Amino acid sequence: MISYTIKKSPIVKRVSIRINADKKVVVTIPRYVPQYVAKQFVVSKQDWIQEQLAKIPENIYTQQHYLEHRDRARGIITARVVYWAEVMGLSYSRLSIRNTTTRWGSCSSKRNLNFSYRLMFLEPELMDYVVIHELAHLVEMNHSKSFWNIVSIYCPDYKQCKIELAQQHIS
Ligand SMILES: [Zn+2]
Repeated sequence: MISYTIKKSPIVKRVSIRINADKKVVVTIPRYVPQYVAKQFVVSKQDWIQEQLAKIPENIYTQQHYLEHRDRARGIITARVVYWAEVMGLSYSRLSIRNTTTRWGSCSSKRNLNFSYRLMFLEPELMDYVVIHELAHLVEMNHSKSFWNIVSIYCPDYKQCKIELAQQHIS
C-alpha cells in the first residue's frame, strides 16, 4: 500500500491526488467526504501513482553527500563571503555552512550568516547573488526598496539571478 497523507479541504468538490517533489503523496478530499474514500481512491490509482513516483529523481543531497562536500563547500563559500563583505564594507559575527533544506542562506539579527552547502553547486553568479543578498541584510533586515538598492550596486543583474534561483530546487 502506498503511504499518503489526507488533506481535508472546504473548497474542493472532488478527490484529487498530488505528488510532491519529495515523493509525498497528498490526497485532497472535500471536507464532508469520509477518509475511506481517500483510501479507495489511492488504491484505484495505485499504478498511476507508482509510475509518477518512479519518475521523480532521487534527492542527491543526502547526509553522506553533505559530509563528502562540506569542507570544500565551507572553503568556497567562506571565500566569497569574505570577499563580498570586504567589498561592501560590512562585518558579520559568525558564518555557518549547513545542510539546510529550505533556504540558500539567511541572516540573523545577531549578524550571523548561514548558508546551505548546496550553494557550491550553483553557478558562481548565483552563489555570489545569494551571498550579496544575505550581506545586504546586515544593513537592511527586510526586502524594502533600499535593500534592493544595496543589492543592485554589487549585483546589477539581481533580477535575473532571482528568476534563475527560483528555478533551482534546493531540495
Ligand atoms: Zn532576503
